[in-house]
Amino acid sequence: MADRCTVGNVEIIAVVDMIPPAREPSAFFAGVTANQWGPYKEYLENGQVQLYYGAFVVKTKDGTMMVDTGMGPGPHPERGNRTGNLYEVIRPVLLPPDNTRNTNVSPSDEVKFVVHTHLHADHVGWNLRYQGGMPAPTFRRARYILPKADYDYYTTKEMLEKFPHIQKQVMPLRRLRLQEIVEGDYQITGEVSCAPAPGHTPGHQVVMVNSGGQKAMLVGDLLHSPVQVAEPSWCAAVDYDKNQSHRVREQLLGQAEREGWIIAAGHFPPGQQVGKVVSRQGKRRWQPL
Ligand SMILES: [Zn+2]
Repeated sequence: MADRCTVGNVEIIAVVDMIPPAREPSAFFAGVTANQWGPYKEYLENGQVQLYYGAFVVKTKDGTMMVDTGMGPGPHPERGNRTGNLYEVIRPVLLPPDNTRNTNVSPSDEVKFVVHTHLHADHVGWNLRYQGGMPAPTFRRARYILPKADYDYYTTKEMLEKFPHIQKQVMPLRRLRLQEIVEGDYQITGEVSCAPAPGHTPGHQVVMVNSGGQKAMLVGDLLHSPVQVAEPSWCAAVDYDKNQSHRVREQLLGQAEREGWIIAAGHFPPGQQVGKVVSRQGKRRWQPL
């Protein structure tokens, strides 16, 4: 059971921002029958799919990164008063112990990179904070790295009307000169890169860590539930292109298993976000570290 791990010289720490309402399995994984869930009941909570909205802090010698920023403080009208608390959760993770008495140092100043796997609301929520209607970056010393295909897709006039979180948490980054739009395989530092893994959204990407001979993949929404390690064809109803999502998941899980990568999945339950893909009797399954 682990919410953190080291990969060579890099430390990966999962943080939970918000616990959203549980979903009916048949609604979350459309087309999957109750029978098909038979062997996988352990992945349901009270018979429901329970996601967690989180993010990862990745500490490297070249600076600390956030991979995604959770759902944010809201208000989230559809969820009443259930607001994110990631900002409080990351405080002790980010702040070096010797700085605890220096009130001029904001923990968020430690972050040099914010890397987005994609631009859904539960992954960009803490990018900016609002005071008197004006946006200010939560991570004011960071470069915000966004995948181009998502940026292009979600910033049309039509999409901006449909998804207010883009207007609120993504659009101001440009004016603030904090954003960097990337495409294809992109090396962020010597040890960390992002790689296209489309399907969930047009520009969805994974974040790869390669340090000291070890590899890890932060999967974003390539995986919503550990059940998808055993059943990669099960696609979230919200996936943009389900065939592509399935194909890319199958390919990356296969590679992760063959090469022994550590996998970090932010939607998995607390303590199970970090693990490996293992096979038993020809069937893959999720093995938390
Ligand atoms: Zn998500």
